[in-house]
Amino acid sequence: EQAPVITVDGPGGAGKGTLCQLLAQKLQWQLLDSGAIYRVLALAALHHNVALDDEAGLVPLAAYLDVQFPVLAGQVATVLEGEDVSQVIRTEDIGNAASKVAAFPRVREALLRRQRAFRVAPGLIADGRDMGTVVFPDAQVKIFLDASAQERAQRRLIQLQDKGFDVSFDRLLSEIQARDDRDRNRATAPLKAADDALVIDSTHLSISEVVDKVLDYTHQKL
Ligand code: C5P
Repeated sequence: EQAPVITVDGPGGAGKGTLCQLLAQKLQWQLLDSGAIYRVLALAALHHNVALDDEAGLVPLAAYLDVQFPVLAGQVATVLEGEDVSQVIRTEDIGNAASKVAAFPRVREALLRRQRAFRVAPGLIADGRDMGTVVFPDAQVKIFLDASAQERAQRRLIQLQDKGFDVSFDRLLSEIQARDDRDRNRATAPLKAADDALVIDSTHLSISEVVDKVLDYTHQKL
């Protein structure tokens, strides 16, 4: 019997990260931030001079990616080849680079087993684009969290400003739209709701309203 999984898919900036952290805390379950793996892969490609469109070069990099997620000072950190890259991978440039490397089927394939290894008792919260459709198709609870592009750009702006990044709203909005288009229109594992997902539009919801909806739904399902 496999451990239960709650998958949370959706476009960037819809609030998946915060939702998943809160769910993992409340349920005391494992957390998989699959986007961080694609971001780290993009960073590793830059470090190792592998072009972002070089699928054959990216596949071994993905297969042997030395990434860890240790808890440092009470926070989950992202460590690439021994270096704490938690901050570096959060830039819009790395997000865009991640969505380029993520478009290659053999790159995605090379990362599948690594992602599935996060499924351990008592359960897993899996955050990404294809968690419910490809990585954990048998998940007991599937959520698709959406929000308007305007609202997502606004939220991302505040998040980045809080972290001390200097960014413009218009540039963020157009980058968000470009990244969405790439994620939704790629041939392999495109961003879309699983047929059996609960779709939540968070445009006019607070984070605690979203958490409550997901917990109610989870209690019905499990
Ligand atoms: O969620 P985050 O913004 O960190 O993801 C960065 C990029 O990684 C996404 O835009 C997407 O292209 C890719 N990704 C993916 N599949 C996932 C998670 C992220 O293709 N499960």
